[in-house]
Amino acid sequence: MKSLKLLTLIAFISLGLNAQSKAESENDTYVVKNVNIIPMTTNNEVIENATVVVEGQKILSINKPIPNNAKIIDGKGKWLIPGLIDMHVHNLADGPYTSYPTRGPAIHIDTQNLFTLYVANGVTTVFELSARAEHIGQRNEILRGDVIGPRIALAGLIDGGNANMTATTPSDGRQTVRLAKGEGYEFIKVYSQLNKETYKAIIDEAEKQNMKVVGHIPSAFEGQTEEAFVPHFGLVAHAEEFSKQADQFTDEEAERFAKMSKKNGTWLIPNLSNLVYIAKQARSLDSVRNLESFKYVHPLMQSKWIVSNQYNEGSSANRIAYFDKLVDFHIKIVKAFKKEGVPMVAGTDAGTSGIVWGFSLHDELKLLKEAGLTNEEVLASATRLAAEWLEIDDKIGTVEAGKFADLILLDKNPLDNISNTKEISGVFVNGKWIDKNKIDTMLSDVEQWNNANKENYNWKEVLRKIRGE
Ligand SMILES: [Zn+2]
Repeated sequence: MKSLKLLTLIAFISLGLNAQSKAESENDTYVVKNVNIIPMTTNNEVIENATVVVEGQKILSINKPIPNNAKIIDGKGKWLIPGLIDMHVHNLADGPYTSYPTRGPAIHIDTQNLFTLYVANGVTTVFELSARAEHIGQRNEILRGDVIGPRIALAGLIDGGNANMTATTPSDGRQTVRLAKGEGYEFIKVYSQLNKETYKAIIDEAEKQNMKVVGHIPSAFEGQTEEAFVPHFGLVAHAEEFSKQADQFTDEEAERFAKMSKKNGTWLIPNLSNLVYIAKQARSLDSVRNLESFKYVHPLMQSKWIVSNQYNEGSSANRIAYFDKLVDFHIKIVKAFKKEGVPMVAGTDAGTSGIVWGFSLHDELKLLKEAGLTNEEVLASATRLAAEWLEIDDKIGTVEAGKFADLILLDKNPLDNISNTKEISGVFVNGKWIDKNKIDTMLSDVEQWNNANKENYNWKEVLRKIRGE
């Protein structure tokens, strides 16, 4: 009995080792020559005309001798920045499941097709804010080397009802946090319908379990926003959480929110792009149809965003005016948080209608710049600062020897113009080099698959099928 257990364990371990070596052995050694490095370290001194060696999954050296076997990438006139981090995403994953063990999920999602969109945009880490078991599976596919994709941080979402994990009493809340930890989520997301006492208990328990907390400000705190700012509430998931609590939409009110965040050590994901796109969709669905990246969106979501668009259905002049007011207020929020010195990290709510995985982060960066951040502050929000909040800043988020090689090679300098983050010449994802040609091929594969399968993913028909109608 004992030896059988031991054998199983050995088999398990060696499987793990094989998987790791597969991912590593695929990586060649590269040298990027004559490149300008924007390291995004705290002082961020640009290193001009540098030599960067990438070996295995990591940055081996900067301006040191070049190994003989290194493949050369010409970096002349180009700019090297850390891979980007989207701090608020919702990734498509397999589901929903029927109760029959002989059946798989009703909808199967090709992980590579989804993650190609991040890779193509230089997004090398994402924070999944409503994680399910399937997302742990996706992360494993990437770590095994079966799929090229970003690193994925996982937050389990707990709400007062209507969610995978729900809690309506403090003791249930605490137990749910412990279960989430056991299932493998590193972070907790608190959501809108939690009652006050359960919300506070969840955050307190998360601190005990060493899990950071991101989330919404539950509607139970309306009019008493400050009460929600309990110790260990680490990150507000979008500026909209404050506009839901606002009644004046003034600079003064934005300042009040900034001060309470500062005092509590709570950071902010402004998520400006989401409301900008919501306001556009409330006006017309052409804003979705005409997105350059729409063809890369999974056909099920293409269909849903058009035939079942919650922002467009029953839209009115009043609603549009309200959304416009929120867009303005969120800019005031960013200005106030900057003035108060509250760290902000970039996130997009990718996966919600009109917000396309990977592509949306570049829109967010541009909006953050327009809201008053400098280009360097914008880049920090999607690199070093985001890594810091996730507590992986010793591994990613800057261009330094010893860090994982998550890098973007740009044709133009993003410190001159933040839109230059889209001028991608190639991307290192965990040490694997993917040049522009490969990126274009990967994207066109996704587009072809989407076009070939469009017929099978009519949103309303799929819903009927899932319901067994
Ligand atoms: Zn979200």
